Amino acid sequence: DPYVAHQDRYDTTEYRRSGKSGLHLPRVSLGLWQNFGGDRSLESQRAILRRAFDLGVFHFDLANNYGPPPGSAEENFGRILSEDFARYREEMVITTKAGYVMGQGPHLNGGSRKYLLSSLDSSLRRMGLDHVDIFYSHRPDPDTPLEETLTALHHAVTSGRALYAGISSYSPAATREAARIMRELGTPLVVHQPSYSMLNRWVEDGLLETAADEGMGTVAFSPLAQGLLTSKYLDGVPADSRAGVGRPSWRENMLAPEVLERVRGLNSIAEERGQTLAQMAISWVLRDRGEQTVTTALVGASSVQQLEQNLAALETPGFTDEELRRIDEYAVD
Ligand code: NDP
Repeated sequence: DPYVAHQDRYDTTEYRRSGKSGLHLPRVSLGLWQNFGGDRSLESQRAILRRAFDLGVFHFDLANNYGPPPGSAEENFGRILSEDFARYREEMVITTKAGYVMGQGPHLNGGSRKYLLSSLDSSLRRMGLDHVDIFYSHRPDPDTPLEETLTALHHAVTSGRALYAGISSYSPAATREAARIMRELGTPLVVHQPSYSMLNRWVEDGLLETAADEGMGTVAFSPLAQGLLTSKYLDGVPADSRAGVGRPSWRENMLAPEVLERVRGLNSIAEERGQTLAQMAISWVLRDRGEQTVTTALVGASSVQQLEQNLAALETPGFTDEELRRIDEYAVD
């Protein structure tokens, strides 16, 4: 059937500006890292994307290497985009990145102008788009001058291949320097995309502050620590989970006894609050930190049910000081 989006999709969503920019992002965004590759059915992908958009999630995060195999997530997304979402393209915020290894040789990895711009052209071809909304440097590359990487982002924007530029996983110092250079070039960075969860709090040590100072929004990736911050691993490893499937991104020590003990402690606080641990993990990443409040929690979902559960996090009340203090006892890296 032809897809028609829910009429009231913007009534239920909260969204906010990315930093000081005019670009707005929904409080919960959907990433296509692991569940949209060649190994997942197109129909399950389509169902998740349709439900997300119906619920007001208009921000879809991709990268050149998402799959597996690398590139397949962009191909699948491009196909579903043209079949289902063509008339909604202008409402959608679609992002891609380059910086991690995509293939052999020196120019399918890193931060060179050569890699970033040729990769962006390939991403656009796979998705069937003439531009993305945000193009990211996926990670800092110490072997390439920062100016070269950033000039490539600037050119991506001025040449019309991207509307905005962003960086991912840059340190506070590198972020400050990058923001300065991009301002001088005339393409201010609108967003930083770091990892952030109750078990991974590095951004609280200067990065959220830097992003706020520089007027950049913050897109927090892996707020569920790849699914660890749910109740699913408390009684063993489900066969169909990211750990059970044995994804390379899942490290063995993530299920160490002392980690599971923290997860169990957090799970009981979530139960007392009347929400699932997944929901509390998302609410917590989005909690009010004044100027430093995270713009959006960038989640993954392997089913429509997971997505729905995660979005319902937005319906629960904020945290009391006492709850935050109790969470801090378990929420350590
Ligand atoms: P999450 O921490 O949200 O983990 C998502 C995974 O957890 C799902 O795929 C699913 O895995 C499981 N899950 C999700 N919701 C539930 C639920 N309610 N109950 C039980 N299990 C659940 O995020 P990701 O690690 O997937 O990352 C999200 C996005 O962030 C990526 O898609 C990507 O866009 C971005 N990202 C960016 C990076 C960067 O370098 N810039 C690096 C990593 C991610 P399953 O069912 O398979 O167990």
